[in-house]
Amino acid sequence: MTLLRWFGRKTFSHGVHPQAHKEDTADKPIRRLPFAPRMIVPLAQHLGKPSRATVKVGQEVVRGQPIAEADGFMSVPQHAPATGVVEAIRLMPSAQGPRVPAIVIRVYEASNQEVLWRTPRDMNALTPEQIIQAVQDTGLVGLGGAAFPSHVKLKVPSGAVIDTLIVNGCECEPYLTTDHRVMLEQGPDLIRGTQYAMRVVGARQAIIGVEDNKPDAIAAIRRHLPADGSIRVEAVETKYPQGAEKMLITSLLGREVPSGGLPAQIGVVVNNVGTLTALGRLLPRGEGLIERVITVAGPGVKKPGNYLVPIGTPLRFVLNHVGFSGSEQEVILGGPMMGNAVASLDVPITKGSSGVLVLSNSEIQAETRRIHPCIKCGKCVAACPMHLNPTQLGLLAAKREYDVMAERFHLKDCIECGCCSFVCPSSIPLVQYFRIAKSILRERAA
Ligand code: SF4
Ligand code: SF4
Repeated sequence: MTLLRWFGRKTFSHGVHPQAHKEDTADKPIRRLPFAPRMIVPLAQHLGKPSRATVKVGQEVVRGQPIAEADGFMSVPQHAPATGVVEAIRLMPSAQGPRVPAIVIRVYEASNQEVLWRTPRDMNALTPEQIIQAVQDTGLVGLGGAAFPSHVKLKVPSGAVIDTLIVNGCECEPYLTTDHRVMLEQGPDLIRGTQYAMRVVGARQAIIGVEDNKPDAIAAIRRHLPADGSIRVEAVETKYPQGAEKMLITSLLGREVPSGGLPAQIGVVVNNVGTLTALGRLLPRGEGLIERVITVAGPGVKKPGNYLVPIGTPLRFVLNHVGFSGSEQEVILGGPMMGNAVASLDVPITKGSSGVLVLSNSEIQAETRRIHPCIKCGKCVAACPMHLNPTQLGLLAAKREYDVMAERFHLKDCIECGCCSFVCPSSIPLVQYFRIAKSILRERAA
């Protein structure tokens, strides 16, 4: 148990306190965006194997219909986000940079876009294995940004015993408020999804962890908690990266995930609130994931807010709708700490897109300050929540000593939170170095 927990504050050690910038969107209820004339549904919107298209060019599809099937256990299906016709199945721009295979749907303007494809289920009749299959059929992945297939996360490794389901309601990235709004507006779905997940993993308790700067969300969820006390809400310190899985486990339970290990090894499964809310809504109705809530914010947005957007909607359509003044270099998908700048506004909103951030020119300039040599101030070491040595890792990255970074300085334990880059007075892009090093090591191992 950390000292901080001894003194009553549920938190982890190290981390940073970036400015929150949430005031423009936190109070705005979720609103639905209109349907774009064309939807782009990539076959790989998740970690693992891309799905396989099951429709042909020229085929009509209705909203909610499966259009691509899972290709193995570490894969999920895709569903039509709108009623229309398959115009093409081809390579399209992606937020990651390279073009990826996608199903392009020309949306029927005259359609009322009702969900016409569903197979309602009696959830009480399903075994845990059948629920896992049902979760895969929804095409659900982690909506917090990681896009890890949800059914894989709920499959407990053999030998592990889960006592606690942690529900991650921290949303510690600046600007993002999607989870905040979901907790305020969709409490019954969240509790239902939490109960399904508890059944699957065999947890006797669930703790919904919410940062203490969201008292309204904490109060809203408490109104929907079941009377048996199996689910509770706990406030944790507002600090970045409180929403990182390992940090939240430490804050709430005082347990540490072993280096290179999984939360299941210490009896825990963690799921994001948005993901479990979608689970609570989609599973009983037998529907696929075809839309999600995203925060659109930043100084370059005229109507910032939280929008319910069909998956596959081109980013350009979203930005035109909310009023956008700027160039393509200013748009970040995700939050400012862990998100990525997009190279093209033709990329679609996918299952993992939690936010769209449009920064002004002055902010971009502040972000792209000149890099200076390391002055060995140690600020990055003091900020790293994983207790790594970013300054040493940075020096090794500059010399391309990637194996030494992994073997002697635990590069694989880096959660890519960006705290080290955030505090560095020399503006060294440490986290970018680490991402490159990790991807080179992954390529070498493949
Ligand atoms: S990005 Fe990695 S090294 Fe840097 S603070 Fe986060 S965990 Fe530590
Ligand atoms: S914060 Fe930057 S300047 Fe300071 S020790 Fe770390 S890398 Fe060097």
